[in-house]
Amino acid sequence: MRRHRASRTVSDVGEQIQPVRGMNDVLPEAIGAWQYFECRTRELLGAYGYEEIRVPLLEHTELFQRAIGEHTDVVGKEMYTFIDRGGDSLTLRPEATAGIVRALISNGMLRGQRHKLWCLGPMFRHEAPQAGRYRQFWQVDVEAIGCPGPDVDAELIAMSARLWDRLGIAGLRLQLNSLGTPESRRLYRARLVDYLKAHEAQLDSDSRRRLTGNPLRVLDSKNPDMQELIRGAPLLTEHLDAESQAHFAELCATLRAVGVPYEINPRLVRGLDYYNRTVFEWITASTGAQNAVCSGGRYDGLIAQLGGDATPAIGFAMGVERLVALLVAAGRTPAAAAPDVYVVVGGPHSFTPALQLIERLRTERPAVRFELNVGGGALKAQFRRADRSGARLALILGEDEIARGVVALKPLRGSGGQSECPMAQLPAGLDAALAAAGPGA
Ligand code: ATP
Ligand code: MG
Repeated sequence: MRRHRASRTVSDVGEQIQPVRGMNDVLPEAIGAWQYFECRTRELLGAYGYEEIRVPLLEHTELFQRAIGEHTDVVGKEMYTFIDRGGDSLTLRPEATAGIVRALISNGMLRGQRHKLWCLGPMFRHEAPQAGRYRQFWQVDVEAIGCPGPDVDAELIAMSARLWDRLGIAGLRLQLNSLGTPESRRLYRARLVDYLKAHEAQLDSDSRRRLTGNPLRVLDSKNPDMQELIRGAPLLTEHLDAESQAHFAELCATLRAVGVPYEINPRLVRGLDYYNRTVFEWITASTGAQNAVCSGGRYDGLIAQLGGDATPAIGFAMGVERLVALLVAAGRTPAAAAPDVYVVVGGPHSFTPALQLIERLRTERPAVRFELNVGGGALKAQFRRADRSGARLALILGEDEIARGVVALKPLRGSGGQSECPMAQLPAGLDAALAAAGPGA
């Protein structure tokens, strides 16, 4: 039975409202690692010729049902689906590929054209929240549309390998597999079902459910008690058609030639139905059970399935929370930049002239970070705030300075005494004082 929380009433006003389970706030103290990740990723994708695309968080439910497949965990039990006020069934996107493909079709962008795209944003799945697994989580999604591979597959994977390098994340392992064509998969599926049925007593309840709908997913079970059975299952790789075999062999040879190490994992099947041929996953030993940080594969049939011109494509998605956790573990958490200059305001009548002056200096020196003291306070308190801010220099403007047409400048780190600079000599005088004050905190 599903529990329904009674809706809040007006009498609850003033009570704290809890966050939704599995949905996280990313606080300013943590944002450095996120921005570092996003910046490096954006740069690298741009350097490989990928362009950003932004698609809606909400789509018609049918899009995901058709794209991902009715028998997948995502569609079967993880989607946030609701009827909107107009009576349409809408779903918060659980992944980005379906929406991107829908956008290409809706905007008439296929017709034999190629696209290299990426998209960053939150995804939503009603899963059991735990470390590394959330109900709202972020992905960077990367798609190469219009090429059958395996050349594009190899470049895409090489790019992901370079990204780990740029980010400074070590210890990720690449697992590869080929799912073949839908036809060879059907043949394999029949063999697998025979095997699983012969061992039905050993199947857990999840696997029993998957046996009829999505038997390949049994291979993906995370239940330790199932592993021996899975090890004995027939292998997909042994049932590939000749063309898929050649495709896979060429991908592997190219990866070896460019020095990207990989492991073939014949049990890697991926959770979504639309994949064919190349599938891959980057895994780490260090995030416990949630060890996949980047997963993807080829989906040559999806675009036609969604009503577009038949177009081959491959893509992957990275789990941002899991990668950020690795960055934090590796100590790659740049702190927010401190201001360069803290502006101490001497007395209430000095605030407007101080704001005028600093606004002017911000125009003339857009790269300098100023923090203007707001909310008043005695000079001593303002200097305490200046110290705490991490600024290198205090600029002091009181009624006396204003009357004399000067500002006082005081280095906040190291030695060096307070000096004065005529306002007419700003911003050059400020440049000199900042240079003399040395680097920031
Ligand atoms: P898993 O096997 O961990 O459930 P998945 O196969 O469902 O992953 P994809 O749908 O391929 O994952 O998503 C790509 C990446 O997004 C994953 O490799 C993972 O890093 C991340 N991811 C998936 N689900 C979650 C989640 N609920 N919370 C955080 N990250 C997730
Ligand atoms: Mg999953």
